[in-house]
Amino acid sequence: MLPRKQEYFTLEISRDEVRLLTKKNGKGIDIIMKEMLTWRQVIAQQWFLTKFCFKHAPGFMAYHLFEAVKLQISIFFEFTFAVNYVLTVAEEGEEFRKVLMCMGILMGAIAVSTVTFAIYKHYVFPRGKQTLYQALRMEIYEKSKEIDLSCYDDKDFYETFILATEETDRCLDRFLVFENSVIARSVGIACTLVYCAYINPVALLILAAILPFELLCVLQENKKAVEARMERLPHEQQREYGNRVFYLSDYAGELRLNPQMKEECRTEYAEENHKIEEVNKKYGKLLFLYGLLREGFLARLVKEGAVWTFLLYQMLVLRVLSGAQLVTSRSCIWRASNNIEVVILSFRTVAENSAYIYRIREFLQMEPTIVSRGEKPVPEGSGSLSVEHVDFGYLPGQQVLRDVTLTIEPGQKIALVGYNGSGKTTLVKLLLRLYDPDGGRICYHGMDIRNYQIMAYRRSIGSVFQDFKIYAASLKENVLMDVENGSREENYLVERALYDAHFTLENNRLSYQIETPLTTEFEKDGVNLSGGEAQKVAIARTLYRRQNLIIMDEPSSALDPLAEYRLNQELNEIAKDKTVIFISHRLSTVRDADCIYMMENGRIVESGTHGELLARGGKYAAMWKIQAGLYQSEKCF
Ligand code: ADP
Repeated sequence: MLPRKQEYFTLEISRDEVRLLTKKNGKGIDIIMKEMLTWRQVIAQQWFLTKFCFKHAPGFMAYHLFEAVKLQISIFFEFTFAVNYVLTVAEEGEEFRKVLMCMGILMGAIAVSTVTFAIYKHYVFPRGKQTLYQALRMEIYEKSKEIDLSCYDDKDFYETFILATEETDRCLDRFLVFENSVIARSVGIACTLVYCAYINPVALLILAAILPFELLCVLQENKKAVEARMERLPHEQQREYGNRVFYLSDYAGELRLNPQMKEECRTEYAEENHKIEEVNKKYGKLLFLYGLLREGFLARLVKEGAVWTFLLYQMLVLRVLSGAQLVTSRSCIWRASNNIEVVILSFRTVAENSAYIYRIREFLQMEPTIVSRGEKPVPEGSGSLSVEHVDFGYLPGQQVLRDVTLTIEPGQKIALVGYNGSGKTTLVKLLLRLYDPDGGRICYHGMDIRNYQIMAYRRSIGSVFQDFKIYAASLKENVLMDVENGSREENYLVERALYDAHFTLENNRLSYQIETPLTTEFEKDGVNLSGGEAQKVAIARTLYRRQNLIIMDEPSSALDPLAEYRLNQELNEIAKDKTVIFISHRLSTVRDADCIYMMENGRIVESGTHGELLARGGKYAAMWKIQAGLYQSEKCF
């Protein structure tokens, strides 16, 4: 019953493959295999991120690795080497001065190490991490700016995009942890193994004997923990959604009006919680046993028992080991096995991270198809615009525009009308080169628009869409849609555009006039605009730029009839010498157009002036009659 949105990604790892899975619908039943990475690919992803991090933050990466390796080496020196040295000195009855010297060196090293670590922790790490987050996010944002709008219609792409943006920080975090645990701990393992081989080489045999059992236990425990996580996921997802319903303001009003819904949400929340507890119970015992086996039985009894017995046998029976060597050998075995365990476990993180990196790279490698074929600048002034036999479909085999042909002379005002879904907005998107036609072409100033530099071409057209967005920024920034230069002239032009769009600044709520922050997302004294006010801001954006070609898709749908009438008069005056393409459902607003194109099923079925079309008595006339009738009946009320 609860609405859902989020999807979960998880991993399945086998001996030679890593699969990224998507868990959907909150029902936990359809697990879709998304990607399959071989271990070779896993390494390639790690290599990619290593190069990326060293390229963008080389100093930080070097320091990061240095600190990690230093930690392992200092653990080795402090707890293994120094202990062995001090005990040997004591056993051999050497002077106390030697012990003191060793302690002094150790203390000095610890002091220096503490300082370098504090610098790393408080300065280097937070900054370095932010640098990397930003660098990767910037690459993703840059890519998202240039890829085709059509990509957003593709579910697979969208999933990859969301994953890429959501996972960047976590990917980098996991990578840094991996670098730390694998590289540094490998150094730790090498130190202890080499030292053990030097002190007591036979002890390595006991390590080799116990390690496979220990690892088997770790991997089994890990596998069960993953299974438990997979089973909990759908319920956690449902529970999380329940949470959101309670805290998101979007639902607050409805829940107050429908208290029974609140009750239902609460029940569902409790049920999901119960299911999670059930899963925890189901796996709890098994995980407890594995834990006991690894932590308790295996570690304490078998491992410790075997190691101590073996070492004591060497010392007391064979008499080949001193006390110092016994303690050191035990420390080496303990540290090495512990570090090997951590490294093995961290390969799971590496594999999981690689699957995410793979998706991020997939996104970064996407190439836009809507690009400038030529670098021609757009000519100044008004030019003719012609649409020549254009065909288009969003999806293969589903044509939305069919053989559309029309010519608009400079300064003409034309209107596109038709019922919902007839293709008006799609045609406008093609004019703006948000999509390219499948067949035919569009020319501006006599040149195929694909030959113009794409951004310059788009900037040469002013457009207002039905689904414009108001940003959490100042009113001025919402009109400018660009970086401010802060000049008085800029302020004047913004105010002028708002005035022309009939947006009134004489409003108590706009305490800071054009500097007033819009939306209450970040600012306590931010202002939420009404639908009509927001639409006027969107119109002001176009009026500010004063382009020669203006496209308006239902620009006044949120305005009341009087406001709409006045605004249209104003727009006619402002756009006197400009080319205007107007889309509207309300035919009364387009009756003065130089030419009206009636669209149906992606075709232009009629064209002419309002008078001509009425006289023809065709589809436009029928639509006009229906609207006039509705208007009359509205007046009766
Ligand atoms: P109008 O503006 O006349 O209401 P549109 O141009 O928005 O019509 O839509 C024309 C047709 O194209 C409709 O059938 C609509 O469902 C379809 N359509 C619009 N946008 C997309 C899209 N992004 N992906 C797939 N189909 C779309």
